[in-house]
Amino acid sequence: MAIVERVLQILREGSAASTYKHAVLIALMDLCVERTAADGSAPQSVTTRQLATKVIELYWDQTRPFGGGGGAILQQTTQRGSSIPSWIQKLRQKVEDDVGCTLSPARARLADATSWTTLVDNVEVRLIEMPLAKLQRVAGEDHPWLYALSWDDGAHKPTHDSVQTYQRGEDSDFDNVVRLQPGVGECLSRLHSLMRPFVQQEWTRMVAKCSKMEESKLHGFLFGANRKALEAVRQPLADLQQGRCFYCGGRLGMNAHVDHFLPWARFAEDGLANLVVADARCNGNKRDHLPAHSFVEKWRQRTRGQRSELVRLSGQLQWQLAEDEALGTARAAYYRLPADTRLWAGRDEWLAIDLEALRKALA
Ligand SMILES: [Zn+2]
Repeated sequence: MAIVERVLQILREGSAASTYKHAVLIALMDLCVERTAADGSAPQSVTTRQLATKVIELYWDQTRPFGGGGGAILQQTTQRGSSIPSWIQKLRQKVEDDVGCTLSPARARLADATSWTTLVDNVEVRLIEMPLAKLQRVAGEDHPWLYALSWDDGAHKPTHDSVQTYQRGEDSDFDNVVRLQPGVGECLSRLHSLMRPFVQQEWTRMVAKCSKMEESKLHGFLFGANRKALEAVRQPLADLQQGRCFYCGGRLGMNAHVDHFLPWARFAEDGLANLVVADARCNGNKRDHLPAHSFVEKWRQRTRGQRSELVRLSGQLQWQLAEDEALGTARAAYYRLPADTRLWAGRDEWLAIDLEALRKALA
């Protein structure tokens, strides 16, 4: 459990109050699980570009007014000057005003690719300058236990020029690889469902401090699923399932629910690949449990067999699919479960984990 202690040290280190460290840590963890290979191994590196995109996704809904329309935008830093959340908020507002509805990051990227690229460029530069080089500094000393960079924020600081040249896709001496230390990817994947809520809690605490608000009111807003937005995909997905519950096959009545196949607590992502429709009873009974292998087979079957329909739906609704991310997360979650785990196999039914069947389905 040394890793929990180390993460806590990172988060409580320094006088600067901002949620950048929290965002980078969760981005790292999420990238580790989402990029799990077919054999279950965690990645050995990520790029500053991937981190920047992930950080934008994490902040995206947090830049909406707290408590609805007239509410304030939550403060995520006590420092003056422009911040990552404020850039995100500006872009989000602009594209949503143009289109006239709320958009996910993936849809915003489609709606205004140029502004999106500029935003990712800016966030990437800020991550390079600020949290990435400083994150592992505790009490003035660098302890690169998480990752190694080929630059720092001192003598080997990357020049603006080299980063911009790299961002234009030209030859540059800037190296965007964040090399995870041996075993770190595996460790972050294994502890993902424990560490993510832990860092979220610390993140909430920091926002409460920066915004001078009560912690208890903030957590759901910052990290809850956006149920309302999911309404748009309910009917199309139900049609894809011939109007039947994904789990029990019963007719879907008026109370059909959009269900995150991999629970939101493990995969906080609304891509179509991870969404199915279930009746209220199955949905309520499944809650945050991982579905058994028979459902995983069915789920993968849907992605393969109905890929063209899912892709068409994704284009029509301008809704991301996120198939690779869902698949990687499923591997990370299932392959690391204890051998005596029982999985949800339908209403009040449980099945022993069948790793062989799962490996086949998730290959
Ligand atoms: Zn059902």
